Amino acid sequence: MLENSPLQELERRERALKIINSRVKEDRSNLYDLTGLSGGFPVKEEDISLLETYAGPAIFEEKLQPLGLKHLGGEKVLALNRTSSGILAAILVLVKPGGQVVHFLPKLPTHPSIPRSIELVRGDYVEFTDPDEFEVGKKTDLVIITGSTMDHQVISEGDFLKIIEASKSQDVPVMVDDASGARLRTILYNQPRAIDMGADLVITSTDKLMDGPRGGLMSGKTELIDLIKSKAHQFGLEAQPPLIAGMVGALENFKPDRILESRSKKQELYQALQEDFSVEKTPTGVMLLPENMIEELESRGVETPLDPSVVAGILAMILLREYSIITIPAVGMPGASPTIRIDMASRDAERLDVEYIHQAFIGSFSLLEEIVDDEQKCKTVLFG
Ligand SMILES: *Cc1c(COP(=O)(O)O)cnc(C)c1O
Repeated sequence: MLENSPLQELERRERALKIINSRVKEDRSNLYDLTGLSGGFPVKEEDISLLETYAGPAIFEEKLQPLGLKHLGGEKVLALNRTSSGILAAILVLVKPGGQVVHFLPKLPTHPSIPRSIELVRGDYVEFTDPDEFEVGKKTDLVIITGSTMDHQVISEGDFLKIIEASKSQDVPVMVDDASGARLRTILYNQPRAIDMGADLVITSTDKLMDGPRGGLMSGKTELIDLIKSKAHQFGLEAQPPLIAGMVGALENFKPDRILESRSKKQELYQALQEDFSVEKTPTGVMLLPENMIEELESRGVETPLDPSVVAGILAMILLREYSIITIPAVGMPGASPTIRIDMASRDAERLDVEYIHQAFIGSFSLLEEIVDDEQKCKTVLFG
């Protein structure tokens, strides 16, 4: 049966990677990665010989410090294998067994790494999207703020400051999950860096809205970062030298231009797509939510018993197979957002005109409408 399960998500992802593999073998330029996660690996020729177990960290951790501090603020930065790894390491340090974590985010869904990490310490997890309901209690060990969600819903500066103030008044440390927010908030919304607004810890993904490798970059006070670093080493959560070297290159090269320039392209794409679909704007692109896919199917007279996230996976796989467009519901890790988000700040968006994307949506949706009733055909699209 088709369901929303981590195992089926993995199978779908592997199928997507197979399709990508065969397109790339023909020619990388046949593929359009519009996820906004580019996974660039900007290392210099002379860096490669230094990628050793001990020489690597000695060189690249030192180079990372000033660049990371410039990007995030704080006293010391720490490179982690992924943003998820950093969230886990911080929770392992800061949350006592049975302690509570209170999470504020502008809109659901939550990134799965947060509740899953809390589960590991048998912590109690509470989340809020309304700042007026936000509360910390005696059991609260940590407050997490998501600066920008997986779907790029961005917190307002007012809400951010309110949550910080409420947490500080109870002496509860605040960690900001600024995976994409460290750039979206600051560059598009002119908000201060998380640390400058009073956060104790911030983590960002060097893969999101910058051409760096998938990895987590954390900053905060030296004392706290050292505790988290030690925990990360104990569980193998830290970034290895090649990853740190890639982060250094990405931070050296980082320019806000492409993010700023995406705004006019996003407007153009939104205008085209909204004639046919209930798409919504994101800071750097547009998105189609799973519930809107179901509504769109219903308006075409098609009812489906499938979970909306499975439908999103099918649509994303069609976009990939038929139009070579990569979106997160096709390639995402289990638990990733099922929203189809088109990010016009992606490097590959520069090679595409808006009409191609518009036609890809129309064509893919027609195909979805045709096959969604037929489980066998859906399975073939999802798993090959
Ligand atoms: C992407 C993201 C993460 C996790 O990043 P990984 O590289 O997948 O570990 C965590 N939180 C938010 C809000 C994200 O957007």
